[in-house]
Amino acid sequence: MHKSALILVAAGTGSRAGQDYPKQYYSLVGKSILQRTLENCAKSFKFSEIICVIAKKDNRAKDVIAKSGVSAQCIKGGKTRTDSVRAGLKALKESAPDHVFIHDAARPFVSKLTMDALSEALEKYDGTAPALPVTDALKFLDGRSADRDQFLRMQTPQAFHYSKIMSAFETLEEGAQTADDIAIAKEAGLSLKFVDGDERNFKITYPHDFEKAEYMMAANSYTAVGSGYDVHQFEDGGTMMLCGVAIECGYRLKGHSDADAGLHSLTDAIFGALGLGDIGDHFPPTDDAHKNQDSAVFLTAAMDAVRERGAVLQHVDLTLICEQPKIKPHREAMRARIADLCGLTLQRVSVKATTTEKLGFTGRKEGLAAQATATLSIPS
Ligand code: MG
Repeated sequence: MHKSALILVAAGTGSRAGQDYPKQYYSLVGKSILQRTLENCAKSFKFSEIICVIAKKDNRAKDVIAKSGVSAQCIKGGKTRTDSVRAGLKALKESAPDHVFIHDAARPFVSKLTMDALSEALEKYDGTAPALPVTDALKFLDGRSADRDQFLRMQTPQAFHYSKIMSAFETLEEGAQTADDIAIAKEAGLSLKFVDGDERNFKITYPHDFEKAEYMMAANSYTAVGSGYDVHQFEDGGTMMLCGVAIECGYRLKGHSDADAGLHSLTDAIFGALGLGDIGDHFPPTDDAHKNQDSAVFLTAAMDAVRERGAVLQHVDLTLICEQPKIKPHREAMRARIADLCGLTLQRVSVKATTTEKLGFTGRKEGLAAQATATLSIPS
């Protein structure tokens, strides 16, 4: 079994993606691109070692790596991509792997199939890379046609025998600019083999690439609708907290925390969609830490769980069931507060109210009930 190392090149500034920070840290459905690439690579192939080459002033990479749970080491890159790759290769000198895969951090969708094809090609060749044909008509800038069959579109990972690509890089001058690592291997006379590329393994470069990536991921997600229900009794005095809004009505909801039945039902709905039990499992009412707790904390924790799963909360719908207090005067403030806590636009947040026609405990004005649904897209 060969020892294969992975170098993830994440030292770019990503100015073409239209962000004011490097694109590898831009969030793609709740996780940074770098984290997605790292996790996907570690899942798709057995690497003996992973090196992330990052920009000099980058202090986010370590957090991202820790979040991913993948074991990887950070190395500072150079001025050009070539210098960065060289820094990564040098960092592998001691462990001297048989093979090294060099991959763009901005390609989060590389498949196991591609990894295996590259590994197999290295049995016979010094270097290999995934390549795709040109399918659109190809023209020179002056309008003349070019023969597209003479061209290939190169992707990464580009994989090599470590010692051979290391020597090839050692002959290059500092600051040298090359199209890719295959170009350096070619220049050094290494034997090369191109394997089938994969359209899904595209590089996130421009703003519309994020849309494409999100669309691709959504196609691999399922929709889950969670429901929540909560009841709290009224007690005299204090301020009522309902859906994160303070209501001065001369009475309040009784409970261990601030007893915000609206936020409790919504928190339960989100945990429900994720299959993560109920609010009591996460925040036991016996825990004194939650005495008089602002229930926004519970909802925020549920939203953290959404992001951790790489899921997206699409919509929430709440129904408050009570004779009193009147909900309508507070409804827009409730929607705004929930939208803020959940990171949703207003149109994705619904708050409604109803009565039970004076029947039951809500009819007798002993307390109120809240019922919520939360719709999530969750990666399969
Ligand atoms: Mg409750």
